[in-house]
Amino acid sequence: MKIKVYGGVDEIGGNCIVIEDGDIKIVFDNGIRFSILRRFYGGRIEPLGLSELRAVGAVPPFEALHGASALYISHLHLDHTGLLSSIPPEVSIRVPSKRILEKTLASWYRRPGNWLAYVPPDYAAKVEEIESKEEDENKVTAILVSHSCFPAYSFLYAGSDATIFYSGDLRFEPLTTLCRQLDESIAEIGIDGVDVALLEGTNFNAEYTPITASMFRDYISLLLREYELLSISIDPLDLEAFLTILDLSLLMGRSLVIGSERLLWVVDEVEKLRPRTRDKVYISEELKASAPLLRNISLLNDVLKNPGDYILAIEPIGLLHTFRKLKIWGESPSLTDSVVVLMDPEPKESIKEVEEGALRTWLRSFGIQVFRLRLSGHYLPHQFNNIIETLKPKDIIPLHTEEASLMIKLFRKSQVRE
Ligand SMILES: [Zn+2]
Repeated sequence: MKIKVYGGVDEIGGNCIVIEDGDIKIVFDNGIRFSILRRFYGGRIEPLGLSELRAVGAVPPFEALHGASALYISHLHLDHTGLLSSIPPEVSIRVPSKRILEKTLASWYRRPGNWLAYVPPDYAAKVEEIESKEEDENKVTAILVSHSCFPAYSFLYAGSDATIFYSGDLRFEPLTTLCRQLDESIAEIGIDGVDVALLEGTNFNAEYTPITASMFRDYISLLLREYELLSISIDPLDLEAFLTILDLSLLMGRSLVIGSERLLWVVDEVEKLRPRTRDKVYISEELKASAPLLRNISLLNDVLKNPGDYILAIEPIGLLHTFRKLKIWGESPSLTDSVVVLMDPEPKESIKEVEEGALRTWLRSFGIQVFRLRLSGHYLPHQFNNIIETLKPKDIIPLHTEEASLMIKLFRKSQVRE
């Protein structure tokens, strides 16, 4: 049995792991390596196409996928999902949710003329949905985990001579009851230890100290108590963060306004998960979008007139766009005492779409304070030992980290303790 790692070693993102076991070949993730993308491209230097991206090593080589029976995508972040239109036709693509893929990545990026148009799968591709908890025909069991992207999976492969755990990206402590803590899920499957754990380690020596889920809830509650309009930018795929913010805003008697097109997919999920909150959730009229069950509301005429009654879930650029229009019209709204919380968590894993310095200048010009909250989509360093105790691996392969040797040292130390 062979484990080949094509991306994700000593770098954050770009995961691609191939397992060859007799005549079985399966692949976990097909990530874009943003560290390479940033080195070769920027400004007007854009990728010429797939073969160039492969040639510079920004996406996995053809040999990684060739002849595989299945490609398992752990979650829909681009550093794991990658360019699905490049997948050889014999490979079955297993995604966490076909419906969510269609409503998010596929519809955001299916625009010609840009390399990101390679993200959605080809029309003829075999795309299937991962089913959790049951071992499938490739001996893979998917385990639902918490991450800043919903749904997200870790995978367990029961090989001929070893069991392999691949973490994908995960939070150890979930934000909501949508997901369970890793140790509970592992106990439920009934396995007692694995041979090899391929483990992410994003947060070791992270530039910023990430906060815990309870710190996040406390801080958002504080902001809701102390300030007028609260606007929060979250990763648009982070359904758990969205639900947490919704629950807190209802608790504090505020309504939530969806002000970003990329967040519209959550409307159906909220309908299923929080059916009774329908009359407390609005869609910003300025988006020119509607959902059958939700009412629209005007940022200009309603929200900004009673800013203390609302919380706005938005991408910062969208918010700024609305404010800037007001400035041109000479209607300076009173936004002093309002705050914008930036919490799109992992800039290293993606392409920077927003120049933060410029964003802050604009927001300050309206009297808005900017806070950055680092709620990470990944487990915190002190939870590494919990994960090791849960999985009891004989060996680990650190991935998605710049601190691989530290992880190995910590792992050795945890074994001595036993
Ligand atoms: Zn991720």
